[in-house]
Amino acid sequence: MNVPAAPVLGCRDTPVIRERGQHEVFCGLTGIIWLHRKIQDAFFLVVGSRTCAHLLQSAAGVMIFAEPRFGTAILEEKDLAGLADANAELDREVARLLARRPDIRQLFLVGSCPSEVIKLDLAKAADRLSAAHAPHVRVLNYSGSGIETTFTQGEDACLAAMVPVLPATQARELLLVGALPDVVEDQALALLADLGIGPVRCLPARRSDALPAIGPQTRYILVQPFLGDTDAALQRRGAQPIRAPFPFGEEGTTAWLAAIAAAWGVPADRFEAVTAAPRARARRAVAAVAATLKGKRITFLPDSQLEIPLARFLARECGMIPVEVATPFLHREIHGPDLDLLPAGPRLVEGQDVERQLDRLRADRPDLTVCGLGLANPLEAEGLATKWAIELVFTPVHLYDQAGDLAALFARPLRRRALLHREAAE
Ligand code: SF4
Repeated sequence: MNVPAAPVLGCRDTPVIRERGQHEVFCGLTGIIWLHRKIQDAFFLVVGSRTCAHLLQSAAGVMIFAEPRFGTAILEEKDLAGLADANAELDREVARLLARRPDIRQLFLVGSCPSEVIKLDLAKAADRLSAAHAPHVRVLNYSGSGIETTFTQGEDACLAAMVPVLPATQARELLLVGALPDVVEDQALALLADLGIGPVRCLPARRSDALPAIGPQTRYILVQPFLGDTDAALQRRGAQPIRAPFPFGEEGTTAWLAAIAAAWGVPADRFEAVTAAPRARARRAVAAVAATLKGKRITFLPDSQLEIPLARFLARECGMIPVEVATPFLHREIHGPDLDLLPAGPRLVEGQDVERQLDRLRADRPDLTVCGLGLANPLEAEGLATKWAIELVFTPVHLYDQAGDLAALFARPLRRRALLHREAAE
């Protein structure tokens, strides 16, 4: 089977610089923006402040054609001061919402910094409300708070909250774990069907009536590298992981599919027959963009938790030179296969101490810096080209058919900067 060869020296054993300091990231509420589109009969009720409501509203925009599937139960000052019974208000708010919206089958109470500060027990509230509104609605809770977290942890916390209540099964099934845009998920399902692999389930499912069941015969594979808590929750249910590089780029997608194919005993000639054409397409699409990226130096500031697999893709398939690859959390087991393939050379950093990272960045002056929105503008003003990390979770970037688009996301800021330089010189 066509599995990518590891470099002579990968990054598995590279010493990791660990930093704990001020960090500049969005909070886990951000995940609601893609999760509410993915889970079509869910509602995300943030129990938070007006700041939380503003973050959601400005990041997600206003839905004009559909009833929104997220909202904020605002904690007022009297709640924060402990002068009102926030639980009673929450129960009333939920009853009103569910009476108005019979299409809601799953309700997520999403904790925030304010709800955590006043120690509002949303787990208890979810149990109480589940009992009150069963069997029509299941109420779960998770934290989207920005205290010591990064924005992709919202999805992880949401999926991890779902795992304990999934039904049990003894069936041998494959579970794809992580929210993909529907069109990309359909591509994955089609490739797996062509390989003869099945039954395949997805977490999250698009609707509550398609929720997967879990058991000791479940083999699961992550589609996103930021699902550490979900990974642990699945193992607690007896499911077994398939570890592989993440499906970014031609090579990553092939390695990801090959790991599943190996677990299902798919013959090598069938694997070759199914993947040859999309692989060639992906290679061509990446090659069309790679000329702009080749030899360019790139630094990742810690933000999306996609940093390690993306550095692997950019180094191996696009010829970029990673200078520093920083990630909020480095999970050896989950990121190991990508670390094996990432050629030794870059500094690996876990966590953030933003001032120190900016000092190193200014000394390195890479051609491209992947960072959060808050840092991008000041860095651009210093003459550094930047790419917003958050775009990488809002844009379809997984699997063969998106490999060229993924490379193009990194090429665009470099082209823009080259154009600006040319104009300035003229
Ligand atoms: S959860 Fe915390 S960090 Fe996120 S918007 Fe609300 S207050 Fe801000």
